[in-house]
Amino acid sequence: MSNVFFRIIAPDLDEDGAQRAARDVARHLVSRGYVSEAPVRYLPTSLPRYLPGPRYAELYMERPAKYGAAFGGVEITATRDPRFYENGQEGFTVSCPFCHQQAVGLLWQKAMTSYHYGSSGILLCHVCRKLERIDRWTYEPNVGFSRLCISFWNAPHLREDRLHELTEVVDSPVKVIYGAY
Ligand SMILES: [Zn+2]
Repeated sequence: MSNVFFRIIAPDLDEDGAQRAARDVARHLVSRGYVSEAPVRYLPTSLPRYLPGPRYAELYMERPAKYGAAFGGVEITATRDPRFYENGQEGFTVSCPFCHQQAVGLLWQKAMTSYHYGSSGILLCHVCRKLERIDRWTYEPNVGFSRLCISFWNAPHLREDRLHELTEVVDSPVKVIYGAY
């Protein structure tokens, strides 16, 4: 069965900021009744997942009923190092933060592997020859690195005012990633 999701990431948050935002977002979602009070351990990912709360439908642009049994669940993740979050569709570009040229796919993948295994993750720009860590390149349109990730599973799109509300709680610029696996 395929899963649709959207994620809110905040690429500019540092480690402390991400921890603080994760706590504040959880408190906010629980206090508004958007999610259940305590997360459950969701077996496929083994991550704590908040189940829909009594006012969950108020988060979304449309009524969520059609998503049936697969519906719902919010995961809030704060990590020490930035993680790469994508949309499951591989349709994105990576460009140099200095000269804006697109990265060579193979070099990017190598740097990504290195980063993933705790190495430098440095990527060389083949045009301006500058070196920069992979999480500091520019990602478009809807992927990116972040220490904070709020994932909403199998739910309709978030209402604009709710996104605004959550952005205020996060207190840092956010990016919303819509995706499917
Ligand atoms: Zn460059």
